[in-house]
Amino acid sequence: MPTFRKLQQVVASVPASDGAGVKLRRSLGSSPYARLDPFLMLDEFFSDDPNDYLAGFPAHPHRGFETVTYMLDGHMRHEDNHGNTGDLGPGDVQWMRAARGIIHSEMPQQTEGRMRGFQLWLNLPAQEKMSPAAYRDIASSQIPVVNNVKIIAGKLGDVTGPIYGGSTDPYYFDVQLAPGAVFECALPASHNAFAYAYEGEALVGEERKALAHRSAGLLSEGDSVRIEGGAEGARLLLLAGKPLGEPVVQYGPFVMNSGEEIEQAIADYQSGAFAREGIGRIKVATPQ
Ligand code: FE
Repeated sequence: MPTFRKLQQVVASVPASDGAGVKLRRSLGSSPYARLDPFLMLDEFFSDDPNDYLAGFPAHPHRGFETVTYMLDGHMRHEDNHGNTGDLGPGDVQWMRAARGIIHSEMPQQTEGRMRGFQLWLNLPAQEKMSPAAYRDIASSQIPVVNNVKIIAGKLGDVTGPIYGGSTDPYYFDVQLAPGAVFECALPASHNAFAYAYEGEALVGEERKALAHRSAGLLSEGDSVRIEGGAEGARLLLLAGKPLGEPVVQYGPFVMNSGEEIEQAIADYQSGAFAREGIGRIKVATPQ
């Protein structure tokens, strides 16, 4: 018998701004208490008004974790200090492991129309925080879809997403539900999991507890998830990852395990050490 996870805690999103003033909604990460190990932050950016996004995210550093950008609408260009460039269009994903250091920019390539998407911050274990940076650009066409569920990372039944395995073994699904439609899947009991409804409302668990629009619903323990589309249906992200159980010390775009490591990150950034590193491609484990 499956044990369905319950909706345990809700982290409502709050208005925030990042980069050079891009307006967004932040749920996870809106305070140091609003994290779900190994997830540090989830931002949703959405606007039809170019004034909200045109300034973009000019060059900035990261160290100690992974950033995952998932575009729904619009067009963003990525450049980093290692000479990599990438174009993100609707449905594309950029999975970037900053690890010991990257400096990059993410700039809108449109002057009108809708810009919508997400940025997730996923922590790395202590032993990988100083490993070489790596990234993957994942085109929409490389993301499998099963019954209106896009599998960006992890495994649904025997279908594996382009990102699979690793120390946090992330699951990242984009789920579309008609009113009253039910999505059920197994998720490893070892993982923490949450859902974020970005359109409509969802009903979570056998209790059918309502998860409001633009809120992150942290899920209880269990080995399975049951989510139902609300009266107007729902589109939601379902995320799960293996917790690290390590101290988290964050200073802006640096996330390490101690204050000394944060001071080192600042010193390395200021001395230009970030710019001297090479970059690799994220390797994906073989599904079992
Ligand atoms: Fe960034």
